[in-house]
Amino acid sequence: MLRPGGSGQRFGKPRPGPAQPARDPRTRPRLARVPELPEVEALALDLRGRLQDRAIAQVHVAAFSALKTFDPPLSALEGTLVDDVTRHGKFLDIDASGLHVVLHLARAGWVRWRDEVPTTPPKPSTKSPLAVRIVLDDQSGLDVTEAGTRKSLAMYVVRDPADVPGIASLGPDPLTDDFTIDVLREILQREGRKQIKGVLRHQGTIAGIGNAYSDELLHAARMSPFKPASSLDDEELQTLYDAIRTVLGDAVARSRGLAASELKGEKKSHLAVHGRTGLPCPVCGDTVREVSFADSSLQYCPTCQTGGKPLADRRMSRLLK
Ligand SMILES: [Zn+2]
Repeated sequence: MLRPGGSGQRFGKPRPGPAQPARDPRTRPRLARVPELPEVEALALDLRGRLQDRAIAQVHVAAFSALKTFDPPLSALEGTLVDDVTRHGKFLDIDASGLHVVLHLARAGWVRWRDEVPTTPPKPSTKSPLAVRIVLDDQSGLDVTEAGTRKSLAMYVVRDPADVPGIASLGPDPLTDDFTIDVLREILQREGRKQIKGVLRHQGTIAGIGNAYSDELLHAARMSPFKPASSLDDEELQTLYDAIRTVLGDAVARSRGLAASELKGEKKSHLAVHGRTGLPCPVCGDTVREVSFADSSLQYCPTCQTGGKPLADRRMSRLLK
């Protein structure tokens, strides 16, 4: 058994070999950028203040792959008044007189507010990150952008948000009053032996938690990400429930009132383990480690979460079979 902090001294330098890839977290800021529940909630609040009671003049699509629907047509939005901007899980929903512009920002998507947008429609270009531009009646507007080449940003124009498949299948929202400890208990029992990390970030199980906040709230709960969902006793269940409400609630509270442009930095500066491989845990000082998980990787603190024992990289063991 390693002492608290001891493993950090011993394994501080990244080891060669695929089990612990030697990657500098500073070169991978992407991880911290994916907007999850708190950021999308803050974006919705920010945009509500700017868009409410304004009319949409035009919607321009520069990246046609982003638009996932064709009926109602984009032109149906012209002249509609924005009633509200809300969130469903990680989806942003602009309610324009009963029509809904739903955005899923995915990994590299973002929204930029502009006090004045150009009057000419943007030209489709593979070089520009601009995907969609929403122009308001006073020539202010929104640019929806997606950096990089992985085009996974999605926009839907629908009459009912539930027409978006990803919204129809969402699990309960963890910050609503309905999300009680009994709801969490039922979910974990139902998921059985599945690893808790995967259960938490699966949108159909619980809405809005992604790779970053699942790392963060498991760290706050001092729980191994590989713990089987149904194995939690009552005390662990209470700890996890409190961690979900506190970590997400605090992140929403900190983000509230911030403009879209400030949200990414705010999120990143408060992460304890996510995207911080090789850096000290702010709670105990041990070195934050990473293992592969599903299609990406997870970060955790061995001292806080796994009794000082590093987790085995399951992807490697699977490949070696
Ligand atoms: Zn720690």
